[in-house]
Amino acid sequence: MSSPTDRIPTRAEVAIEHTWDLSRLYTNDSEWEAAFQKWEASIEGYAKYRGKMGESWQTLLAALLYDLEFGREGDKLGTYAFLKSSEDVSNSTYQGLKARYLGVAAKAAEAGSFFRPEILAIPDQTLQAFVNQPEIAPHRLTLERLIRFKAHTLNESEERILAMQIETAQTAHNVFSQLNDADLKFGQIEIEPGRKIDLSHGTYMMCLEHPNREVRKTAFHQYYSHYQDHANTLSAALAGTVKQDVFSAKVRNYKTAREAAMFPDNVPASVYDNLVAAVRANLPAVHKYYAVRKKAMKLDAIHFYDVYVPIQSNIKKHHTWEQGVELVLESLKPLGQEYGNILATGLRGRWCDRYENKGKRSGAFSAGCYDSDPYILMNYKDDVFDHVFTLTHEAGHSMHTHFSKSQPYQYSNYTIFVAEVASTFNEQLLGRYLMARATDDQERIYYINREIDDIRRTIVRQTMFAEYEKIIHDLAERNEPLTVETLRGEYRKLLDAYFGPDFNIDAELSLEGLRIPHFYNAFYVYKYSTGLSAAIALAERVTQGGSAELNAYLSFLKAGSSKDPLDLLRDAGVDMETPEPVNAALKRFNELVEQLDQLVG
Ligand SMILES: [Zn+2]
Repeated sequence: MSSPTDRIPTRAEVAIEHTWDLSRLYTNDSEWEAAFQKWEASIEGYAKYRGKMGESWQTLLAALLYDLEFGREGDKLGTYAFLKSSEDVSNSTYQGLKARYLGVAAKAAEAGSFFRPEILAIPDQTLQAFVNQPEIAPHRLTLERLIRFKAHTLNESEERILAMQIETAQTAHNVFSQLNDADLKFGQIEIEPGRKIDLSHGTYMMCLEHPNREVRKTAFHQYYSHYQDHANTLSAALAGTVKQDVFSAKVRNYKTAREAAMFPDNVPASVYDNLVAAVRANLPAVHKYYAVRKKAMKLDAIHFYDVYVPIQSNIKKHHTWEQGVELVLESLKPLGQEYGNILATGLRGRWCDRYENKGKRSGAFSAGCYDSDPYILMNYKDDVFDHVFTLTHEAGHSMHTHFSKSQPYQYSNYTIFVAEVASTFNEQLLGRYLMARATDDQERIYYINREIDDIRRTIVRQTMFAEYEKIIHDLAERNEPLTVETLRGEYRKLLDAYFGPDFNIDAELSLEGLRIPHFYNAFYVYKYSTGLSAAIALAERVTQGGSAELNAYLSFLKAGSSKDPLDLLRDAGVDMETPEPVNAALKRFNELVEQLDQLVG
């Protein structure tokens, strides 16, 4: 008997021109091995600087250069091991390389752990004199970014006590992960007559996209009945992580847990508050969308389990890899020749590991380092139209990585705050290109619905999460108890506001506020919302504007982390300290909802 999986080739059977070319990193495993051994041995170099960082600017500079060189070689070794192991996760040789790399990287982090505290312990005047040295200029920003933390760094014995608490500080998170990923079992669900599958976090999402409403509804109620059984444990764990955040912030002289979380990006609280206010002001458009969806799906009442299924399922379109690349390049023409030529050479060459093979990591990602191509992993399928969007998304990351190499190594890594801008910008351009050329309404509905849901999930939903994180941390900061009732009650109020008066909110949906893993890394998700908002605002600017707007955007791609994220975006043309970019994104949402309303009649 043959099954579809029989047709998936093994790694060895894949044509070489369909794979990425890692030879710019190392031509073979033994070259990696030799470099790895040299790298591992060079860890001892750190010891030379221990206790001496404040001696002179020359020593400080030497230490910084040594650390950068070590890091740069480590990036190469890690990239090779990581990419090789993704080619076939069952290949134990490469899992071995990856594990060895991670082991030595951890050892190196420990060996160099004195850098930060020693630099921060240098008396202010001396440190300022070091920073002002012309020879230090290429590292001034690195040092200034570190010095910012001085006001939030404690004395040696206090820091030692905090370091001793690092592991116990993770308890709440560990309890949640163990419950959520190991102990909780969600039973089985029948997704078509006679076909039962295990309900899990992954298949739950699959079920919510199922065209059969009974499947969606059953999955929803079944999934949450198991959370209901553990509501007290979940609340205790969530309260624990919130209190830990509040404690850590207080002890390090931050006014709030949110300020502590936003401090590394140098983003003021107003950005967060503007985001929430702008999304709140545009909620009527979100409510209208649910009404349109309800109409299009011919429902008498709309529930949470009705919002993930596409209104128009995947349209039948066939694009070979070459055609997909062509489409991506055509849609990105507004970015000019330089961008287009580099990307064309990369995609038609060997940046991308294109197709599925046995054991290959699923999904897609972009990854590379300063001394390699900006590689892309795909599992491209000709008949999955969404893969063209995935391709342009990853191409956006890769071009950002490529252009960031205009910076010296120390400023070539861009931060999470801006990371999703270049990728979702490209999706915007592809969506607009296709929408302008759509030949029938089915196709139009598909593109519009796709983008609406994207904005809803990335901007609206994540902002609701962000607002919830703020509320429950505020409560803890005012010493109010975080009970099941409080947590669910606060979450329910947000659900009511975000889904609107005509939405049927099932009682168990408030359990969602207890089960989102991101809440254990609080004040992070707002960056998804600001990132997509910036991308939409920039896509509007570049497509409507001229060469000044385009050049500003390209300069942003080339700027790496040479400035703080808000300054990078401001230079590109969007000021995240004002509500305008979020408003621009939601204006687009609004227009799309109006169009969808017309199309579904
Ligand atoms: Zn991405």
